[in-house]
Amino acid sequence: MKTITTGKVKTVYDAGEGKAIIEFRDDITAGDGAKKEAKEGKGSINAEISARLLRFLEEKGVKTHLKEFVRPNKFLVTKVEIIPVEVILRNIATGSLVRRFPFEEGSELNPPIVEFGYKNDDYHDPMLNNDIALALGLCTRDDLTVMRRLALKVNDLLKEFFFERGILLVDFKLEFGKTHEGEIILADEISPDTCRFWDSETREVMDKDRFRKDMGSVIEFYSEVRRRVLS
Ligand code: 5GP
Repeated sequence: MKTITTGKVKTVYDAGEGKAIIEFRDDITAGDGAKKEAKEGKGSINAEISARLLRFLEEKGVKTHLKEFVRPNKFLVTKVEIIPVEVILRNIATGSLVRRFPFEEGSELNPPIVEFGYKNDDYHDPMLNNDIALALGLCTRDDLTVMRRLALKVNDLLKEFFFERGILLVDFKLEFGKTHEGEIILADEISPDTCRFWDSETREVMDKDRFRKDMGSVIEFYSEVRRRVLS
């Protein structure tokens, strides 16, 4: 199969007939790829978590690119044109939010914050406002409205899904794509690589921050997230 793109942790292949295969590799990166390792089993863990979450969202009426989870670490997906805008949802203040603004670490954000970022490693995914996104020609004003609405819906659904499993959904990043017909659907993955998860009781970190901050036990916590997501 022809490779469409090789990303930092996933490879995308052309599967023909408007479809693609996404392979979740074992690589894990931080700091726009500056820090990189392979963790055995990570690809299949993230694929399984993402497949469960995307299926759950589909059941609740959110259209996604996932057609079939090909175990252990591949997705057959609808081929989309990825919109180069990362949509970030925040329920609890941490990470880059507290580095850039005077929010208290760990404080609740109610209503949640929706942030747009320019998906561009060379510029370190800078925050966008609507005018910059439009001036750069990244998408239309309507696309921004649709992505914001969908992201808030995903947040409502996932916050409850995780809360029932003893996990706080702290924040996460979504990517959307446009189908051949021009419809915006949820793409990419939803996993401990793209979300922050804290244990509801202990507030223990269960996501990629363990790798970013050298906290250790990365695979152990990703496996625990998988166990709870599949329960
Ligand atoms: P922050 O802006 O605080 O670094 O990240 C907010 C949330 O979005 C975190 O859950 C983080 O994992 C996710 N996120 C933001 N940008 C990226 C990115 O480029 N790649 C991935 N995998 N996640 C991101």
